[in-house]
Amino acid sequence: MPALFVGHGNPMNALSRNDWTRAWAELGARLPAPRAVLSVSAHWYLPGTRVTAMSAPRTIHDFGGFPRELFAVRYPAPGDPELARRVQALLRPLPVQADQSWGLDHGTWSVLCHMYPQANVPVVQLSIDETQPGGFHHEIGISLRALREEGVLVLGSGDVVHNLHTYAWGRHPREPYDWALRFETAVRRQLETRDTDALVNYLAGGEDAQLSVPTPEHFLPLLYVLGASFPGEDPGFPVTGMDGGSVSMLAVQFG
Ligand code: ZN
Repeated sequence: MPALFVGHGNPMNALSRNDWTRAWAELGARLPAPRAVLSVSAHWYLPGTRVTAMSAPRTIHDFGGFPRELFAVRYPAPGDPELARRVQALLRPLPVQADQSWGLDHGTWSVLCHMYPQANVPVVQLSIDETQPGGFHHEIGISLRALREEGVLVLGSGDVVHNLHTYAWGRHPREPYDWALRFETAVRRQLETRDTDALVNYLAGGEDAQLSVPTPEHFLPLLYVLGASFPGEDPGFPVTGMDGGSVSMLAVQFG
Protein backbone atom coordinates (compact mmCIF):
# COMPACT_ATOMS: atom_id res chain seq x y z
CA MET A 1 0.00 0.00 0.00
CA PRO A 2 1.10 3.58 -0.52
CA ALA A 3 1.57 6.06 2.30
CA LEU A 4 -0.51 9.16 1.69
CA PHE A 5 -0.60 12.67 3.10
CA VAL A 6 -3.68 14.71 2.24
CA GLY A 7 -4.26 18.43 2.73
CA HIS A 8 -7.86 18.38 4.01
CA GLY A 9 -8.46 22.14 4.04
CA ASN A 10 -11.86 23.50 4.93
CA PRO A 11 -14.28 21.06 6.66
CA MET A 12 -16.88 22.06 4.05
CA ASN A 13 -14.94 19.94 1.57
CA ALA A 14 -16.91 17.04 3.04
CA LEU A 15 -20.04 18.42 1.36
CA SER A 16 -18.42 20.09 -1.65
CA ARG A 17 -17.70 18.72 -5.07
CA ASN A 18 -14.60 20.55 -6.32
CA ASP A 19 -11.28 19.74 -7.98
CA TRP A 20 -9.81 18.57 -4.67
CA THR A 21 -12.66 16.33 -3.64
CA ARG A 22 -12.78 14.84 -7.15
CA ALA A 23 -9.05 14.12 -6.88
CA TRP A 24 -9.63 12.38 -3.52
CA ALA A 25 -12.38 10.26 -5.04
CA GLU A 26 -10.06 9.36 -7.91
CA LEU A 27 -7.33 8.35 -5.43
CA GLY A 28 -9.77 6.09 -3.63
CA ALA A 29 -10.66 4.42 -6.92
CA ARG A 30 -7.08 4.21 -8.24
CA LEU A 31 -5.08 3.07 -5.20
CA PRO A 32 -5.03 -0.62 -4.25
CA ALA A 33 -7.99 -1.37 -1.99
CA PRO A 34 -6.76 -1.20 1.61
CA ARG A 35 -7.66 -3.71 4.30
CA ALA A 36 -7.86 -0.77 6.71
CA VAL A 37 -6.82 2.88 7.07
CA LEU A 38 -4.61 4.19 9.86
CA SER A 39 -5.24 7.92 9.98
CA VAL A 40 -3.03 10.49 11.70
CA SER A 41 -5.20 13.60 11.80
CA ALA A 42 -4.17 17.12 12.76
CA HIS A 43 -7.33 17.26 14.85
CA TRP A 44 -6.34 14.66 17.41
CA TYR A 45 -3.52 16.59 19.03
CA LEU A 46 -2.98 16.10 22.74
CA PRO A 47 -0.33 15.04 25.25
CA GLY A 48 0.48 11.39 24.61
CA THR A 49 0.02 8.85 21.85
CA ARG A 50 -3.34 7.09 21.65
CA VAL A 51 -4.97 4.77 19.18
CA THR A 52 -8.72 4.35 18.68
CA ALA A 53 -9.63 0.82 19.69
CA MET A 54 -13.43 0.77 19.45
CA SER A 55 -15.22 -1.39 16.88
CA ALA A 56 -17.69 1.37 15.85
CA PRO A 57 -16.03 4.80 16.03
CA ARG A 58 -18.42 7.77 16.20
CA THR A 59 -18.28 10.68 13.76
CA ILE A 60 -16.91 13.72 15.63
CA HIS A 61 -17.95 17.20 14.51
CA ASP A 62 -14.97 19.00 15.98
CA PHE A 63 -15.66 22.53 14.74
CA GLY A 64 -18.09 25.38 15.23
CA GLY A 65 -19.85 27.92 13.05
CA PHE A 66 -20.54 25.64 10.10
CA PRO A 67 -23.92 24.86 8.49
CA ARG A 68 -26.20 22.26 10.01
CA GLU A 69 -25.69 19.92 7.02
CA LEU A 70 -22.07 19.51 8.03
CA PHE A 71 -23.07 18.46 11.55
CA ALA A 72 -25.43 15.93 10.00
CA VAL A 73 -22.63 14.10 8.17
CA ARG A 74 -22.01 10.61 9.50
CA TYR A 75 -19.15 8.42 8.37
CA PRO A 76 -19.99 5.01 9.81
CA ALA A 77 -16.78 3.13 8.90
CA PRO A 78 -16.04 0.32 11.32
CA GLY A 79 -13.02 0.42 13.63
CA ASP A 80 -10.40 -2.30 13.78
CA PRO A 81 -9.39 -3.21 17.34
CA GLU A 82 -6.92 -5.77 16.02
CA LEU A 83 -5.12 -3.08 14.00
CA ALA A 84 -5.07 -0.88 17.12
CA ARG A 85 -3.28 -3.70 18.97
CA ARG A 86 -0.87 -4.12 16.05
CA VAL A 87 -0.04 -0.38 16.21
CA GLN A 88 0.61 -0.66 19.94
CA ALA A 89 2.95 -3.60 19.28
CA LEU A 90 4.82 -1.81 16.48
CA LEU A 91 5.42 1.29 18.61
CA ARG A 92 6.60 -0.56 21.72
CA PRO A 93 8.21 0.43 24.09
CA LEU A 94 6.39 3.73 23.51
CA PRO A 95 3.21 3.62 25.61
CA VAL A 96 0.20 3.88 23.28
CA GLN A 97 -3.11 4.10 25.08
CA ALA A 98 -6.03 2.15 23.61
CA ASP A 99 -8.73 4.81 23.33
CA GLN A 100 -12.46 4.22 23.64
CA SER A 101 -13.66 7.84 23.63
CA TRP A 102 -12.46 9.55 20.45
CA GLY A 103 -13.67 8.33 17.06
CA LEU A 104 -13.25 9.81 13.60
CA ASP A 105 -12.65 13.57 13.48
CA HIS A 106 -13.19 15.72 10.41
CA GLY A 107 -9.53 15.52 9.42
CA THR A 108 -10.28 11.88 8.70
CA TRP A 109 -13.89 11.75 7.54
CA SER A 110 -13.96 14.90 5.38
CA VAL A 111 -11.42 13.17 3.12
CA LEU A 112 -12.45 9.52 3.46
CA CYS A 113 -16.08 10.32 2.64
CA HIS A 114 -14.78 11.08 -0.86
CA MET A 115 -12.10 8.37 -1.08
CA TYR A 116 -14.28 5.58 0.29
CA PRO A 117 -17.86 6.88 0.16
CA GLN A 118 -19.31 3.53 1.15
CA ALA A 119 -17.51 3.73 4.51
CA ASN A 120 -16.72 0.03 4.20
CA VAL A 121 -12.98 0.23 4.97
CA PRO A 122 -12.17 -0.03 8.70
CA VAL A 123 -10.51 3.12 10.10
CA VAL A 124 -8.27 3.55 13.12
CA GLN A 125 -6.90 6.92 14.26
CA LEU A 126 -3.55 7.59 15.90
CA SER A 127 -3.15 10.77 17.95
CA ILE A 128 -0.31 13.27 17.64
CA ASP A 129 1.60 13.89 20.89
CA GLU A 130 1.69 17.68 21.21
CA THR A 131 4.58 17.56 23.67
CA GLN A 132 7.03 16.03 21.19
CA PRO A 133 9.34 17.52 18.53
CA GLY A 134 9.33 16.71 14.80
CA GLY A 135 11.85 13.88 15.05
CA PHE A 136 9.57 11.93 17.39
CA HIS A 137 6.73 11.97 14.87
CA HIS A 138 9.03 10.96 12.03
CA GLU A 139 10.28 8.01 14.12
CA ILE A 140 6.74 6.81 14.72
CA GLY A 141 6.19 6.94 10.96
CA ILE A 142 9.22 4.69 10.45
CA SER A 143 7.77 2.18 12.92
CA LEU A 144 4.45 2.19 11.06
CA ARG A 145 6.06 1.45 7.69
CA ALA A 146 5.52 -2.30 8.15
CA LEU A 147 1.75 -1.75 8.00
CA ARG A 148 2.02 -0.89 4.32
CA GLU A 149 2.97 -4.49 3.62
CA GLU A 150 -0.05 -5.66 5.61
CA GLY A 151 -2.61 -3.94 3.39
CA VAL A 152 -3.01 -0.86 5.59
CA LEU A 153 -3.16 2.64 4.09
CA VAL A 154 -1.11 4.96 6.31
CA LEU A 155 -2.88 8.30 5.94
CA GLY A 156 -1.71 11.65 7.27
CA SER A 157 -4.32 14.40 7.19
CA GLY A 158 -3.30 18.02 7.74
CA ASP A 159 -2.18 20.93 5.59
CA VAL A 160 1.42 21.76 4.60
CA VAL A 161 0.43 25.46 4.80
CA HIS A 162 -2.28 26.24 7.35
CA ASN A 163 -2.73 29.88 8.34
CA LEU A 164 -6.32 30.63 9.28
CA HIS A 165 -5.60 34.26 10.21
CA THR A 166 -4.91 35.10 6.60
CA TYR A 167 -7.37 32.57 5.10
CA ALA A 168 -10.16 34.08 2.95
CA TRP A 169 -13.10 32.31 4.61
CA GLY A 170 -15.10 31.61 1.47
CA ARG A 171 -15.78 35.30 0.94
CA HIS A 172 -13.85 35.61 -2.28
CA PRO A 173 -11.21 33.67 -4.13
CA ARG A 174 -7.79 34.84 -3.13
CA GLU A 175 -4.47 34.38 -4.87
CA PRO A 176 -1.99 32.39 -2.77
CA TYR A 177 0.31 34.46 -0.59
CA ASP A 178 3.91 34.52 -1.81
CA TRP A 179 5.20 33.18 1.50
CA ALA A 180 2.73 30.27 1.32
CA LEU A 181 3.82 29.33 -2.20
CA ARG A 182 7.50 29.65 -1.32
CA PHE A 183 7.13 27.41 1.73
CA GLU A 184 5.09 24.80 -0.13
CA THR A 185 7.63 24.76 -2.96
CA ALA A 186 10.46 24.34 -0.46
CA VAL A 187 8.67 21.42 1.20
CA ARG A 188 8.08 19.75 -2.17
CA ARG A 189 11.76 20.06 -2.99
CA GLN A 190 12.76 18.69 0.43
CA LEU A 191 10.47 15.71 -0.12
CA GLU A 192 11.93 15.09 -3.58
CA THR A 193 15.50 15.27 -2.30
CA ARG A 194 14.64 13.33 0.88
CA ASP A 195 15.95 16.17 3.04
CA THR A 196 14.57 14.66 6.22
CA ASP A 197 16.48 17.06 8.49
CA ALA A 198 14.90 20.11 6.85
CA LEU A 199 11.41 18.59 7.03
CA VAL A 200 11.74 17.50 10.65
CA ASN A 201 13.11 20.94 11.60
CA TYR A 202 10.56 22.75 9.43
CA LEU A 203 10.56 25.97 11.49
CA ALA A 204 14.19 26.57 10.56
CA GLY A 205 12.70 27.69 7.23
CA GLY A 206 12.47 31.23 8.65
CA GLU A 207 9.58 33.62 8.27
CA ASP A 208 7.93 31.70 5.42
CA ALA A 209 7.77 28.64 7.66
CA GLN A 210 6.49 30.56 10.67
CA LEU A 211 3.68 32.12 8.63
CA SER A 212 2.83 28.81 6.93
CA VAL A 213 3.00 26.68 10.09
CA PRO A 214 1.87 29.00 12.91
CA THR A 215 1.00 25.88 14.96
CA PRO A 216 2.49 22.41 14.39
CA GLU A 217 -0.54 20.11 14.25
CA HIS A 218 -1.42 20.43 10.55
CA PHE A 219 2.17 19.96 9.42
CA LEU A 220 3.12 17.02 11.64
CA PRO A 221 1.01 14.34 9.87
CA LEU A 222 3.36 14.79 6.90
CA LEU A 223 6.27 13.58 9.05
CA TYR A 224 4.42 10.32 9.80
CA VAL A 225 3.92 9.72 6.08
CA LEU A 226 7.54 10.63 5.33
CA GLY A 227 8.66 8.17 8.00
CA ALA A 228 6.44 5.46 6.50
CA SER A 229 8.08 5.87 3.09
CA PHE A 230 10.71 3.36 1.99
CA PRO A 231 14.22 4.61 1.20
CA GLY A 232 14.45 5.61 -2.45
CA GLU A 233 10.70 5.98 -2.91
CA ASP A 234 9.95 9.16 -4.84
CA PRO A 235 7.01 11.30 -3.77
CA GLY A 236 4.10 12.01 -6.07
CA PHE A 237 1.77 14.99 -5.67
CA PRO A 238 -1.64 13.75 -6.77
CA VAL A 239 -3.52 16.82 -5.47
CA THR A 240 -2.25 20.41 -5.63
CA GLY A 241 -3.57 23.91 -5.04
CA MET A 242 -3.92 26.57 -2.36
CA ASP A 243 -7.32 27.45 -0.89
CA GLY A 244 -8.19 30.95 0.31
CA GLY A 245 -4.60 32.18 -0.05
CA SER A 246 -3.05 30.29 2.85
CA VAL A 247 -4.31 26.70 3.14
CA SER A 248 -2.36 24.21 1.05
CA MET A 249 -4.32 21.33 -0.48
CA LEU A 250 -1.12 19.48 -1.47
CA ALA A 251 -1.29 15.69 -1.24
CA VAL A 252 1.89 13.61 -1.06
CA GLN A 253 1.98 9.96 -2.07
CA PHE A 254 4.82 7.51 -1.54
CA GLY A 255 4.52 4.16 -3.27
ZN1 ZN B 1 -7.81 20.88 9.78
